[in-house]
Amino acid sequence: MFTHAEWKTRAAGLRFRNQCFIDGRFVPSASGARFETVNPATAEVLTDVARGGAEDIDRAVAAARRAFADGRWSGKAPAERKEVLLRLAALIRENVPELALLDSLDMGKLVKDAAAIDAPGSAHFFQWHAEAIDKLYDEIAPTGGRNLAMVRRVPLGVVGAVVPWNFPLDMATWKLAPALATGNSVVLKPAEQSPLSALRLAELAAEAGIPDGVLNVVPGFGEDAGQALGRHPDVDCLVFTGSTAVGKLFMRYAGESNMKQVWLETGGKSPNLIFPDADLDRAADMAAFGIFFNQGEVCSANSRMLVHESIADEMIDRMATRAAQARPGDPLDPSSAMGSMVDRSHADTVMRFIAQGRNEARLVCGGERISLNGSDAFIQPTVFAGAGPDARIVRDEIFGPVLSIQTFRTEEEAVAMANDTVYGLAASLWTRDLSRALDLSARLHAGTVSVNTVDALSAMTPFGGMKQSGFGRDLSLHSFDKYSALKTTWISY
Ligand code: NAP
Ligand code: MG
Repeated sequence: MFTHAEWKTRAAGLRFRNQCFIDGRFVPSASGARFETVNPATAEVLTDVARGGAEDIDRAVAAARRAFADGRWSGKAPAERKEVLLRLAALIRENVPELALLDSLDMGKLVKDAAAIDAPGSAHFFQWHAEAIDKLYDEIAPTGGRNLAMVRRVPLGVVGAVVPWNFPLDMATWKLAPALATGNSVVLKPAEQSPLSALRLAELAAEAGIPDGVLNVVPGFGEDAGQALGRHPDVDCLVFTGSTAVGKLFMRYAGESNMKQVWLETGGKSPNLIFPDADLDRAADMAAFGIFFNQGEVCSANSRMLVHESIADEMIDRMATRAAQARPGDPLDPSSAMGSMVDRSHADTVMRFIAQGRNEARLVCGGERISLNGSDAFIQPTVFAGAGPDARIVRDEIFGPVLSIQTFRTEEEAVAMANDTVYGLAASLWTRDLSRALDLSARLHAGTVSVNTVDALSAMTPFGGMKQSGFGRDLSLHSFDKYSALKTTWISY
């Protein structure tokens, strides 16, 4: 799209939106507090951002409630909401380079990926949900007699959304597109590491015609702004993507406040099963993509490769070759294969896992931290082999470019190893044997099982987890279920 020099020039010319967006305008936080958002690839401060707290969440929820109650959005016909959201999709497309840069600068991902995948993806998801919303019919129940029982989907009211930093624009979009299409008002809290694209998105939404108060963005920290949203008595539904530990907190917040609905997408430790009859080169290419794309900061990353023992050595060699090709570099440089970790502290965490891995398994390649352009938040793509079932690198979500390869002898053993985790977000399996593919995909505990690919995902298919990877589904028509209630109106005549 652009050269390294062109991306740098564009980055230098960016203007950052750095206030809260409440009731249709940018406002400072009530306390006046601010926090710095840092480019992890250079360790430079990008801007300081309003640090929203409980009072700002209150103001945003009140604005969202007023907007919902007077019907300025909730009362529009689905086809009218569709038109506005299609305009938003078009505006996102017009601003792809800017939105891509905001995410890249804020959290270290490759700008070429953000410009090819994240930002166009956001436009696509808004468009898909917009196009769907005026094609859903409600029901008349088959009661018989002199009865007319209508079963309709109605919006819930005020939705709180708390999202992570790994795909800032897209995770916000996955929540906002179906929530807004169904007629809700939303208060969004982006991650403290990556608030910039959400604030720009709010401005584009206003330009597209989303009425004041319908979409509010309150940047800030999880412990105050996030918690205030989770505990707010006037929020009807809280949707979250992030860690399992914080997901559990949101269930507690709901239980200790107004019993709001809570829907969680909380990461994983996804297995990738490789059988000897698979296309091993393609399996290795996709496995490398699955664990090194976005620096491994992907909830569905296939971080555990389970290989049949007869092909273990050759798969380990293949993965070492692919890892060597995935060298991190300046995220604005189109020749870089990986960017920087989201921040220094997360890079420290990943390095601690790697240090532990050195005691638990054989380090095949990588394992070092890299300093570049004044930042040491870069980590080499890393492969371990031979870890036991209780190793931390096998059990914990590292959220970095760290792959663990283990071997199995039988299908039975492969399935047992794959399912031996508290998580259940995604799984992959590689085989040309159709019966084995169908049999094993039924037995793997995961919201999505990809066969002969990894991380299969589209607007048309539901995405979400089992076990402690959460519940509820993003994307597809099923995503509307989270943002609407079924209402029965029974007329006897
Ligand atoms: P996190 O702590 O779960 O953060 C996700 C969101 O929750 C952020 O907006 C965060 O705000 C907010 N939050 C944090 N603590 C909160 C609290 N006590 N109450 C209410 N909201 C709170 O995730 P993280 O710290 O960014 O990353 C830690 C680990 O989570 C990663 O290593 C990874 O394992 C997992 N993770 C999973 C996903 C996924 O896609 N499923 C994405 C990111 C991270 P702040 O920004 O202020 O913390
Ligand atoms: Mg940042």
